[in-house]
Amino acid sequence: TDEDNQRSETETPPKTDANKENEEEMTNNPLKIGFAMDTLMEERWLKDRDLFEASIRALGAEVEVMASHGDDALQIWQAETMISRGIDVLVIVPHNAESTAAIVKKAHSAGIKVLSYDRLVKNAEVDMYVSYDNEQVGVLQAKAITSIMPKGKYVYIGGADTDNNAHMFKKGVFEVLQPLIDKGDITVVFDQWTKDWMPTYAKENMLLALDANNNDIDAVIAANDATAGAVVEALKERGLEGKIPVAGQDAELAAVQRIVQGTQTMTIYKPIRELSELAAELAIKLAKGEEVENVMKVNNGKMEVPSILLTPIVVDQTNIEETILADHFHKREDVYLKE
Ligand code: BGC
Repeated sequence: TDEDNQRSETETPPKTDANKENEEEMTNNPLKIGFAMDTLMEERWLKDRDLFEASIRALGAEVEVMASHGDDALQIWQAETMISRGIDVLVIVPHNAESTAAIVKKAHSAGIKVLSYDRLVKNAEVDMYVSYDNEQVGVLQAKAITSIMPKGKYVYIGGADTDNNAHMFKKGVFEVLQPLIDKGDITVVFDQWTKDWMPTYAKENMLLALDANNNDIDAVIAANDATAGAVVEALKERGLEGKIPVAGQDAELAAVQRIVQGTQTMTIYKPIRELSELAAELAIKLAKGEEVENVMKVNNGKMEVPSILLTPIVVDQTNIEETILADHFHKREDVYLKE
């Protein structure tokens, strides 16, 4: 009968005692990792979530994920909830670099170590930090754009003021721009943060920049691809898309398509698999109380946080093939849309 067939498919052979014990040891007390995320708005965070979950499971541990979508109070509540449910390590992508310090304190008082993921929690005793070299992200953006447009009026569309990364990106950008500003070659005519990284604000800001300069802008550096997309929309409204260089970050599909079409100059590719796998391994190590040796230190205002910073990669029209496509970060048929 159908029922018999079904049963024979799902039933497992009887276990020997030795077998059973072994299995119990592994499944009875698996380590549990909590992943407190912020936004899932940008495409990358979905990859971070899925790849991190898969990596933790592949290491034989359990994982719980919560996302707070830009709500500080919610992020604190979610972290507290996971702490009270008995996670062994908390991995956090802070929405607000400062207010999440409270979460680190709470985790520690429950004996739980905290790993800062991609974004650094400031002024707290963070156990470990893994990210990309975010200052370098800004350096690479500015080098790419100044090599095309060594003189002129620049616009900087920053990230969220509440995100430590946004400050690092900007620091990197201005390291490259400053000598050119001092020489009088470049003038930064507009420089604003983008509240919560929201593209709508980025577009408003870009339109303000265009208005204030009679549409006479020579280059734009946007802190990520979502804001670069908003910049390109604003340029389009003025018939300027594709006419001036625009930098972004994340190698989002839409951005890579814009690069192919020529409305965005470059992006920064951060292979998320590399980051999520590393974070998963480190989270398990922290859970087991193992030492992570030979790492660099990043100051977060309170302490030197043991850190690993991965290397960001420039992607423009010349190297999509050997980076994004070679890594299967996006599919070829999606990148090269048929007309
Ligand atoms: C990340 C970027 C991301 C941005 C907005 C930053 O902290 O490093 O990759 O685009 O947040 O979510």
